[in-house]
Amino acid sequence: MTSVPSSEALRLVPPPSALEVQQLRKDFTVGRSARRLTAVNDVSFSIRRGEVLGLVGESGSGKSTIARLIAHLHEPTAGTVALSGQPVPDRMGAAALRRYRRQVQMIFQDPYASLNPLHTVGYQVGRPLKIHGLARGSAVQAQVNALLERVGLSPGASYASKRPHELSGGQRQRVVIARALAAQPSLILADEPTSALDVSIRLDIMNLLLDLRDQEGLSMLFITHDLAGARYMSDRVAVMYTGHLLEIGPAGEVIGTPQHPYTQLLKQAAP
Ligand code: ADP
Ligand code: MG
Repeated sequence: MTSVPSSEALRLVPPPSALEVQQLRKDFTVGRSARRLTAVNDVSFSIRRGEVLGLVGESGSGKSTIARLIAHLHEPTAGTVALSGQPVPDRMGAAALRRYRRQVQMIFQDPYASLNPLHTVGYQVGRPLKIHGLARGSAVQAQVNALLERVGLSPGASYASKRPHELSGGQRQRVVIARALAAQPSLILADEPTSALDVSIRLDIMNLLLDLRDQEGLSMLFITHDLAGARYMSDRVAVMYTGHLLEIGPAGEVIGTPQHPYTQLLKQAAP
């Protein structure tokens, strides 16, 4: 006979993390000498549901490689990734990979590079809806307009007919965010999403991402080399140095009163 867990027992089982990364490692082979470089070295962390985890560290410390491992754009040399409690297999078939990539959406530094210059905004935001069967026929256009308005491009219909070159950098990043939202992800990997934008626009985009976290309950990995931005955006912050995760904790503590000498240096060097 199967026993039904009591409501008390159910309450004691914590919900799975949005993301759990265990002892992740990535080696690259570089140059003709086939030298091995360990870009990510034994990194473990988790992201809770609805949490923004900031990932900071200087250029080359392995931040983007972590995002690419999570997005399954690289296969890990060792270690595991689990999304919402489900282990992600090292090798996936095309259909499984498409389903996985719907749940994990990436936003990159340069919105121009990640949009197709030839297609309209509406076409590009509508594509995830069509590919994943989330809307059909005339419902696609209505959803595209609603998504554009959701990211502050209003009225959506007038932006949907534009091409990327007709928009400002900040507006393009909003389109990229709308396209990510179209896939109805559970996790957003934002890799330096504001670094290429004018300083005056950065705060707008950060506030939009925070608003989406609050409204849609999205979980987020927010990668940046800007400590102030990380502190503003994140619930917790993890610090990377030469492939290693040095420390992780509440944003105010890690950045406000860093324990690790490297984080202290990073803070002194910050503008
Ligand atoms: P970050 O995002 O913190 O600047 P990256 O994750 O991009 O750092 O890079 C970490 C290290 O891995 C760097 O030394 C970089 O040169 C190396 N690296 C990243 N991607 C590749 C690759 N595809 N092939 C070889 N080396 C790579
Ligand atoms: Mg990077």
